[in-house]
Amino acid sequence: MTKDVPPPFRDAALLLDLDGTLLDIAAVPDAVVVAPGLIGDLRALRGLLGGAVAIVTGRPIETIDALLGDAPFAVAGEHGGAFRVAPGAPIERPDLKSPPEAWLDQAAAAAARFPGAFLERKARGFGIHFRLAPDTGPAIFAALSALVANSPDFEMMPGLMLWEVRPKGADKGHAVRRLMRHPPFAGRLPVFIGDDVTDEDGMREARRFGGAGWRVPDVFGDAAGVRAWLRETAARGAWAALK
Ligand SMILES: [Mg+2]
Repeated sequence: MTKDVPPPFRDAALLLDLDGTLLDIAAVPDAVVVAPGLIGDLRALRGLLGGAVAIVTGRPIETIDALLGDAPFAVAGEHGGAFRVAPGAPIERPDLKSPPEAWLDQAAAAAARFPGAFLERKARGFGIHFRLAPDTGPAIFAALSALVANSPDFEMMPGLMLWEVRPKGADKGHAVRRLMRHPPFAGRLPVFIGDDVTDEDGMREARRFGGAGWRVPDVFGDAAGVRAWLRETAARGAWAALK
């Protein structure tokens, strides 16, 4: 179990992954449910932490807005491919490449070969989900790997029952560095919470800033455990004891 010592609550910034961390994983990404009370708890924490609550996700920022409204102060979407550093600020997109259209066509054709698998397009990349076709992971990996094999600009990343093609430089560590340059995050100690391999860059970077990086299965069990801890932390105005 990896359980970093939490920084003093009043000095912390909370950087939270969404799926599998705040929300239970659903069979398809559109089917996620925001648990009652979560938005209120995030707002309360934002008030207690001088605003320093951000969502750091692979999803587009627009999806976070639809799910969580104005609860987070800042959102990093698409693994750091899109940022909104403050409420109402424009969405910024670092200068990263977009994948060739031909790749999207080939990925769509690959997904169509595997019943239950489906393509998700993102502004800077794309992925094939296979939660509904769990045996197809290796074949999907092979199909997408063939696309990026000789590319200097793109890489494959695993997700939860997902293989994704993303521009290099779009990862959650990069997202943490960028958020921590802006108030109210700058000068605080980031606590990054995530459940999946793509979160490990964010956790590592949070530790480099003197904060903490916590894997949901190790520290909280599951997203319900994270939500319970956030609720207790918001109610106390201080870190609740970790499991
Ligand atoms: Mg996740």
